[in-house]
Amino acid sequence: MRHDAPLAPSTVRTTCPYCGVGCGVLATPDRLGGAAIAGDTDHPANKGRLCSKGSALGETLGLGSRVLHPLKRNAAGEYDRVGWGEALDAVAAGLRTIAASHGPEAIAFYLSGQLLTEDYYVANKLMKGFIGSPHVDTNSRLCMSSTVAAQRRVFGSDTVPGAYEDFDSADLIVLVGSNTAWCHPILFRRMQDNRRERGARLVVLDPRVTATADDSDMVLALKPGSDAALFAGLLVHLADRGLIDRTYVTRHVAGFDEALANAQEIAPNIAAVSAATGLSEERIAAFYDLWASTPHVVTAWSQGVNQSAQGTDKVAAILNCHLATGRIGRPGCGPFSLTGQPNAMGGREVGGLANMLAAHMGYAPEEIDCIRRFWRAPNMAHREGLKAVQMLDAVTERRIRAMWVMATNPAVSLPDADKVRAALAGLDLFIVSENVLSNDTLSARPHYILPAAAWGEKDGTVTNSERRISRQRAFLPLPGEVKPDWWIVCEVAKRLGFGEAFAYAGPHEIYAEHAALSAFENDGTRDFDIGAHASLDHADYDALQPVQWPVPAHRPKGTARLFAEGGFFGPARRAQMRRLAVPKLASETSEAFPLLLNTGRVRDHWHTMTRTGLSPRLSAHIAEPSVSVHPADIARFGLNEGGFARIAGVQGNAVLKVVADKGVAQGSLFAPIHWSGETASNARIGALTQPLCDPFSGQPEMKATPVSMAPVTYRSEGFVLSREPFALPAGSWWGRLAVQGGEGRLFATDAAIDTIMALIRDRFGAEGLTELIDRDGGSYRCAVLREGRLAAALFLAPTGCAPLWDTVKTAFADPTATVESRFALLSGRRPGGPDPGPTVCACFGVGLNAIRAAFEAGAATAEEIGIQLKAGTNCGSCLPEIGRIGAQARASEAA
Ligand code: SF4
Repeated sequence: MRHDAPLAPSTVRTTCPYCGVGCGVLATPDRLGGAAIAGDTDHPANKGRLCSKGSALGETLGLGSRVLHPLKRNAAGEYDRVGWGEALDAVAAGLRTIAASHGPEAIAFYLSGQLLTEDYYVANKLMKGFIGSPHVDTNSRLCMSSTVAAQRRVFGSDTVPGAYEDFDSADLIVLVGSNTAWCHPILFRRMQDNRRERGARLVVLDPRVTATADDSDMVLALKPGSDAALFAGLLVHLADRGLIDRTYVTRHVAGFDEALANAQEIAPNIAAVSAATGLSEERIAAFYDLWASTPHVVTAWSQGVNQSAQGTDKVAAILNCHLATGRIGRPGCGPFSLTGQPNAMGGREVGGLANMLAAHMGYAPEEIDCIRRFWRAPNMAHREGLKAVQMLDAVTERRIRAMWVMATNPAVSLPDADKVRAALAGLDLFIVSENVLSNDTLSARPHYILPAAAWGEKDGTVTNSERRISRQRAFLPLPGEVKPDWWIVCEVAKRLGFGEAFAYAGPHEIYAEHAALSAFENDGTRDFDIGAHASLDHADYDALQPVQWPVPAHRPKGTARLFAEGGFFGPARRAQMRRLAVPKLASETSEAFPLLLNTGRVRDHWHTMTRTGLSPRLSAHIAEPSVSVHPADIARFGLNEGGFARIAGVQGNAVLKVVADKGVAQGSLFAPIHWSGETASNARIGALTQPLCDPFSGQPEMKATPVSMAPVTYRSEGFVLSREPFALPAGSWWGRLAVQGGEGRLFATDAAIDTIMALIRDRFGAEGLTELIDRDGGSYRCAVLREGRLAAALFLAPTGCAPLWDTVKTAFADPTATVESRFALLSGRRPGGPDPGPTVCACFGVGLNAIRAAFEAGAATAEEIGIQLKAGTNCGSCLPEIGRIGAQARASEAA
């Protein structure tokens, strides 16, 4: 599909910075420093579509929260602005001193799937070839490292065999541990198109029944941690039915007999699978029959599989079934890892994981020697480095003395996050390259904060889940003294005496070197080969079209699929089917911790919200940090729906709003990972999760932490809207979010009304202040007006009667509106119409109440809701929720 009309001269083709789908974006900068955003119809990943997050990218480009100058921590613990020269000299001198005193392995880099491939490449090269430390790891360790480990163990290489087109042509799509509707929305829409247009079937395997399950043909809500048993049983079923592709296995696969014998031990029959998974034998048999009888099947998975202490085995169990049936590498079939991060795969390509060296090579002596010669490296690392959790343990134990964190927030995202934050604070040299001026990792007070380019300013490449390399192009100038990450790393390298090896004129030269390394002494024995790009000049690089690797010199158009005819990268070019450990959860519940905490994402936020948290639109969908609890557990633990619960594990605790959700199994909880110390009073889920890791991948178990739960009560609840931050009474619970024109906080507190009133007067003064006070009833409302416009508002009511804020938010957002009646405003009622309720469609701001009313008035389908209200007609991310609201409306009508 191509554009009929030429693009505006200022429009730039780039790539979305969020999930691993890697959608193409058209960005047209405006004169205010922002940009109009649209989907790129020419990009094969999304063909013009964007989800709610991608659509709202234009709202996240402001400089208000950015770090714009190098900062150095002074003796008082505060930050002084310094020049780049001073900062870079000091960083290089500090690294040199620590390497001299404690050896190079006392230095670590912690990188990010948000970095561009070129940034990753130079950081990895500097550390592993020149400083001489192997300790380079990344937040991708938390994302898909179990898939990397499994693919390397089974295929002999970290290769995703398929392409997104397979989701268009499969007859059966199986999603395992993936809320694809919310976390990979554009791919989910492709799957739904396939269902609608070709009749493909969609099966969802997940302990939690999510929005993805709402739009599927079969849901198997299996027990946490039992995925490998289910797929072991499938392998046994396939063998019992004579459905093994003996020709493919004989030619291309090793270890079949051992893997089958192992599967028979784990899951000898459907009754055993039923016992392991908690699913009925009928459901299991129906799933097995469907999988077995559908040659064109794609099995896709995401964090529910990866973020597990047995994640590598879970992935291997899936790969075993596809290998045994030869359902791999052909159109419409294969195993498919849905990557969470925008450039997790680019990081893997350059070797930005502690157990990789570079260019998909590891630490075999010949691989070290190959890379040493290519880089002309003086100080090669000689063994695998420490993976993320181990790396932070080494910081705690002071085996690592210096760490450079780039583009990530480990004090929120790593398990046992409070310990991580304390460890970072104790480093001899702590360097952070960052976009933002304030986050939880920066609260550990790094010695240097280096201002790095953000999306829109960066220039380089990323690789998405289907191995497709795309350009992420700059369309905004670098603000302040901000610099690209690759430039910062190269400047430090030069100061360490390695100038010749890091003398790049720009990211195009780094990419060309990366491409040349991929082809260096690569006679087809390494999967990652983009040698066709080794000779790209600046203009070629700027014009680079999205392409799937491998792109060897003889195949410049890239490669859609691999392994249909074998050609694996294990011994004798075979794949190696793997035996699995007996599937079990890494940790069990106990009397003290009777529940299992599952963690994940919500539809409209990304990671720790440093970007999506700037968008009022995206903040409107789920406004508060919450825990989803089955209604029976709400009763069992003495909670109230809409009340609060303290969730506590061995590592830490959080206080979260209680949401009733029948999709969460009894005995389980679900909490989103996004809220940090910046955006909530006590909702850092990383502080709760346990640092138990998969033995192969080192990926932490983040889906099943044993926890306790107890009710927490506050005297009152309310909200505050203000142009500038407003400090709530100490001990209050709060969640902060972006609203149009300022910030909002939803809060709960034990503070007395008089205490709140005093804070309001201290902060805003008495002028323009209108108040409604009901001390006996425990409620208080105030509005602060400046020049006839609403400058702040605070509403407070007794617990259980939390005031709604939509009307006041509307008045607060509109810069042209004057508030004619202060008392009408304080009524909190919307003039001229009902309250639309919480936002469901972020693109058009359509609320739950409006959609529910339309269904009750006779709308029958999500399409009809789209015609009436426009909801769901842009990005479509809300379509599953609209469908769910319709089903609920029909159910209550029938009742
Ligand atoms: S699916 Fe959404 S978040 Fe993911 S790359 Fe596409 S637009 Fe971005």
